[in-house]
Amino acid sequence: MKDSGMYHWQSEGAKKSSVDDMVLLTKITEAAITDNLKRRLMEDKIYTYIGPVLVAVNPFKQLPYFGEREVAMYQGAAQYEVPPHIYSLADTMYRNMLIDSDSQCVIISGESGAGKTVSAKFIMNYITRVSGGGQRVQQVKEIILESNPLLESFGNAKTTRNNNSSRFGKYIEIQFSRGGEPLGGRISNFLLEKSRVHSLNAGERSFHIFYQICAGATADMKSNLGIASPDFYSYLLQSGVYKVDGTNDAHDFQETLKAMTVMGIAEDTQMDILRIVAAILHMSNISFNEENNASFITDPGYLEFPAFLLGIDAQILGQKLISRVFDSKWGGKSERVDVTLNTEQAQFTRDAWTKGLYSRLFDYIVETVNKAMVTDANLISIGILDIYGFEIFTKNGFEQFCINYVNEKLQQIFIELTMKSEQEEYKTEGIHWSPITYFDNKIVCDLIESKRPPGIMCILDDTCATMSAKSEGADEDFHRKMESQVGLNPHYQKFSNGFIIKHYAGNVSYHIENFCEKNRDVLFADIIEVMQTSNNEFIRSLFPDVINASTKSRPSTAGTKIRTQANELVTTLMQCVPHYIRCIKPNETKKPHDWDDQMVKHQVEYLGLKENIRVKRAGFAYRRPFQKFLQRYAIITKETWPSWSGNPTQGIHIIMKSVNMDPSQYQIGRSKVFIKDPESLYMLEECRERKY
Ligand code: ADP
Ligand code: MG
Repeated sequence: MKDSGMYHWQSEGAKKSSVDDMVLLTKITEAAITDNLKRRLMEDKIYTYIGPVLVAVNPFKQLPYFGEREVAMYQGAAQYEVPPHIYSLADTMYRNMLIDSDSQCVIISGESGAGKTVSAKFIMNYITRVSGGGQRVQQVKEIILESNPLLESFGNAKTTRNNNSSRFGKYIEIQFSRGGEPLGGRISNFLLEKSRVHSLNAGERSFHIFYQICAGATADMKSNLGIASPDFYSYLLQSGVYKVDGTNDAHDFQETLKAMTVMGIAEDTQMDILRIVAAILHMSNISFNEENNASFITDPGYLEFPAFLLGIDAQILGQKLISRVFDSKWGGKSERVDVTLNTEQAQFTRDAWTKGLYSRLFDYIVETVNKAMVTDANLISIGILDIYGFEIFTKNGFEQFCINYVNEKLQQIFIELTMKSEQEEYKTEGIHWSPITYFDNKIVCDLIESKRPPGIMCILDDTCATMSAKSEGADEDFHRKMESQVGLNPHYQKFSNGFIIKHYAGNVSYHIENFCEKNRDVLFADIIEVMQTSNNEFIRSLFPDVINASTKSRPSTAGTKIRTQANELVTTLMQCVPHYIRCIKPNETKKPHDWDDQMVKHQVEYLGLKENIRVKRAGFAYRRPFQKFLQRYAIITKETWPSWSGNPTQGIHIIMKSVNMDPSQYQIGRSKVFIKDPESLYMLEECRERKY
């Protein structure tokens, strides 16, 4: 704590104590919430509740409370009897599922580096540890746990904000028998940031696997696949970052291979997978020059090795990089155009090629994991959603637009279900309350996804349907169409080369550049055709596309895909009992005990924690089943101590009366007692403590 910018917790923080559940805060302001989280983090308490919602602050250090002892301690324990912990939430999900035979899900949100993926792993670990099972179940557990390192090596990368940033979203369902044994699972993946294959920002790396193979390949692999050091390959050279603190790529490479084996991927196929990884690296070294607007390959020698790895003809590879037969089916017209490409277009083609290869490889891996854990029984499940959070950069593009749209949908579920479950409980318990109003972000979702009247995604698809094969002027066309069709929406605003959406989490300005190209997201037909000539069966299998110029149906766009996926996800989540983890990133330095007040306050704001607390408090801050209440507070009066065996309602009234509880402060429902303000609960707690 030497840094002057850091929070001096020992001098001021330690005196006032923090609250485990922020529903109990005396003041509900963003500052008070931030302050509470700060005090707790400084004492290494990273978990705090808002009722059933778990807030988790990233400690950036290993904490000692994730061992066997804690696993035992949280099993079957009620939330309020033990300190807040992710194991408690995991245990609640698991028990709820068993007792009620209802599927559960947990939605983990927060910005990049806030701790979502680590949280997801804690939950998977806890659940696999507390659930029993025979040999097949042990195998399923191993597959579930090993899917993490496998998907991370292909889908995670070092970014400036997180050394192990997930560049895809994931929903994993673990399926259980009625007895609670994991029998299988299913993963859905969303939006791999595939452009990372060819474009890196300063200070960032590409996907881990590229560095792992360089560091960990055996001598044999090195010569077969032509593996050199990372700086030999243009794609990796562009950022010049090869190592990540605390990561051992060579070791992780072994883990990746082991995980592939656990998934049942045969050794030959593992080599084929690595062949593609290597081919992508080699393709990055193919460069172009230009004469009279026509590009040529600077050094055709660089075509040989990638062509060899991909099992295709080197000359054809070269030819397809510098020219293209457009076979456009857009708009129902079939136009065939032969074009020579300039340098920029040739580079674009090379990058589209490697990107296409990589994303198909990634999909293959996800599919393989799914096959390894498939079960045909229709079971109860626990789903864990770890998807990237809201992204607001200085320059936002199509990717951010899609990511933020998904987050908008998730926020809607959060709102709907938090309110809904709250209201339903009051109803079933027969409690009087007045519903509170809240910002419903459906209007923003509609602006983006509505079909009639057309929202932004529809307008984009329309533009793509009529754009020319070379996509000239399409983005501007899209821009104009939006202005005329959604220009009046209060959550939309135009600016010179883009538009602003007023998201629930803040205003984001999107630049329209490349929106159409990225939405169209087709791999050029001639690339697919070349790949289908590969002499490698595995590689051919990644390109099952049927190319048929007469096909009238349009390939679906990236926007349509994400919209469909998001809506399917919503449907799935809505069928489950939801749980929430809101992850908070306390600083940009990734150091323990470093606290950036402004940064946290901003997250508290857009995660809507204040509203969350308000909603909880507007109704009844606290509720407890009769028996639990009587057990806990029996000590307060002589009549109820040591136990109350009479009518529970009467027992509760006796206790409330003895502490002079204002009758407006509580209501007794059918099975639970509801307490209005946290202060009233405090009072009860104090009376209880005084008796001890
Ligand atoms: P996200 O998935 O939200 O982008 P991660 O879960 O990958 O973030 O967390 C980023 C990094 O922060 C992790 O690699 C780890 O070093 C650290 N971290 C996050 N949560 C914890 C935790 N509970 N305990 C220790 N370190 C953590
Ligand atoms: Mg992550």
